[in-house]
Parts: sequence; structure tokens; C-alpha cells
Amino acid sequence: MTKRSLDGHEKKLQKILDKVGVVWEEFCSIYPDEGACWFALFDALSANNALFCRSCNSRAVQFSPLSRSTRCESCYRITWLTAGTVFHGARKLRPWMAAIWLFEHDIKISSSGFSFLLQIAQSSALNMYKSLFFVVNSEGKQNATEASSSQFLQIFNKRSLETLSWQHPVTEEGLPDKNFQEFNGNGSGAHCPHLDSSPPKTSSESTTSASEQASTECRESSVEKRILALLTGGEKTFDEICLHNDFETAEVNRALTFLELESKIVSLVGGKYGLVSAESFLRSPGHREVGNEESANSLSMDLEQAVESFCRLIKQEFHGISRKTIALYAALRQLPLSYEKLEKITSSRLLGACLFREPIGREQIRVYVSPQFFPFVTEASPAHT
Ligand SMILES: [Zn+2]
Repeated sequence: MTKRSLDGHEKKLQKILDKVGVVWEEFCSIYPDEGACWFALFDALSANNALFCRSCNSRAVQFSPLSRSTRCESCYRITWLTAGTVFHGARKLRPWMAAIWLFEHDIKISSSGFSFLLQIAQSSALNMYKSLFFVVNSEGKQNATEASSSQFLQIFNKRSLETLSWQHPVTEEGLPDKNFQEFNGNGSGAHCPHLDSSPPKTSSESTTSASEQASTECRESSVEKRILALLTGGEKTFDEICLHNDFETAEVNRALTFLELESKIVSLVGGKYGLVSAESFLRSPGHREVGNEESANSLSMDLEQAVESFCRLIKQEFHGISRKTIALYAALRQLPLSYEKLEKITSSRLLGACLFREPIGREQIRVYVSPQFFPFVTEASPAHT
């Protein structure tokens, strides 16, 4: 390594160390190596009553630190310590523990910064983050209201499997025309987020029929997306839907049937169509009710402020995300999960939740696409003192 790149390396590390500060120092002193982390996992399993033989359910098991497994005193079966947990199959436990420790101390650094700090591959760090977001999202969401992905357009600047060729990542959101014009600032691109330089998604299919089929499918899904976006603004009749799009009647008809079959929309009295999730949103407690204007207004203001503060975090620290992952990243609003400052990782609620979940596979993460509506916590978690 040249002196110059060494300097760059040191500067980058120092910047990350400044962010993680004393919290990281504490982690390093309590969990300096893999061994300490495996003992911590054992302690957490014991504390959460999750230590038992997977074969005969006996609780009389002996921990063998060297083999990172337990041995049943009744049937002698050996069980990996990570069996039946999110960590199943993990060779290194310390990065997981470190991520949990930082999240539980309200430190949210990007996965690339985290990979640098822990000296692991960035893809591993990213998968680890997303797995933990899955776990957090599956926990109870206290004080969560429902947000629409269209409220987060300003942070969608990363391409994903869902991004069409030559399109900006933001177009993954089925934008009603009006929103899109506003967003583009009369075509000047003034409000358009920075376009990243990664190559557009290309198809490996070369035959004409395959590409024709693909373009038909794209068009079909874009009709569906447009309709969903349109219905975000409220219920619409068939004619109103056609009026707002330049699609053919048959295409709209087909898309509506599809969306109904997928339980994304419902047909309502008076020949109108509405969003299924919007309907549940309108019924959710705390949402606008007749004669409750004031609390509805303050609720929407809370949501607006929460969205703004979340977008700031995503821009500053993560430099944007893809639309596909917004509902996953919303987990950051729920962190830390633990109510009090942790002395030991054993008492972490997030770690506790990880002990009772199957691992989240890379494929599950890869194919995940955020729904139009998802729970979003407006109230920031109280800072631990
Ligand atoms: Zn047994």
C-alpha cells in the first residue's frame, strides 16, 4: 500500500471511529474476540430460556466452547449453538454482535462503514444489516403509523433488480404524472437526486421474442404500478383510472383483475376501486376520524417530521437507498429495541429476538420488494442515559 492510500485508509477509519466513539471502545473491551462473543451467545441463550437439546428437548446440556456446540446429557446429541437462530451457519459471530451492540446504542453507521470497521466484506455487512432489519420489523411496532413509499422519493437513488433499463431508480415508485413533474422540477432536474454511475440493468436474453415478452411484462407491471399510485390519492372509478393514464381500456381491465387477485386492491360500492392497505390504514387507530381533525393534523405533522429526519439520516450516512428496500430500512426508526442502556449484550432485546428466528437467506433478501404502505415509527426512541 502506498503512503497516500495508507493516509486515506487511516482517515476513513478515524472518521468511522469518531462516529462509533466510546460505544465501540466498550464493545471491544467486553468482546475483544470471537471466543468472548460465543460465550455471550451461550449466555444469551441461557438467559432467554432457549438452551435445550434440539433432539429430545432436554434442558440438561453442556456447553463446549471449543466446538461452539452443546452436548445433551440425556441423548448425547451435539447441537450447534447457532441452530434455530438467525446466526445459523455463521462462522464469525463478532460482526453480528457488533452490529447489534451499535444498533442498541443508537449508532447507525452505513454498512460500508461497518464493513470497514469490522474488516469484513461489504456484501456480508449489507446482508447482516438487512437480516437484522427483518428481525426488527417482525418485532412489535409500538407507536407505528403507516407511511407510503411515495413519501421517500428524495432518498431513492440506488439501482435495484426492480429498476428498468435507462430509468432513474426513483421511477420504481409508480409515480402519478403530477408528482413526477414536481419531482423533476419542470425537467430541469433541480430536485433530482444524484444519478449513480452503475450501468443500467440489461437483459441477458438476446432473442427478439424474449425481449418483446419482457417489454410486454414491463408495460403490464407499469400499468399496475400506475394504478396503485393513482389509488394512493383515493378511490377511483374505472373511467377515472382510464382518464389519468394513456393505457388502453383492455390493459387497465387486465391490471385491475390482477391487482384484485393479488389482494392489493378491492372493488367498492359505486364501481370504485381502492387500495387494500389504504383501507386498513384508514381504519387504524389514531388515524383521522370524524370530529378528530386536530389530532389527525398533528399526527400527519409528526409523520412528516419523522420522514424528514429519517431521510436526513439516510442521505448523510447511507447516501441513499433503493425504493425496493425502504420498508426494510424503516427498521432504523425502531432502534434501539432495548429500553435501557446495555451493560452486557446478553440483555439486548434485539439479540433476544434473533434467537427465535430462522436465518434470513440471501435469496429472501434479494427478492424482497417493499410494499406501497408499511409501518413507520414517528416517535424517535428515547435516548439512553
Ligand atoms: Zn437430547
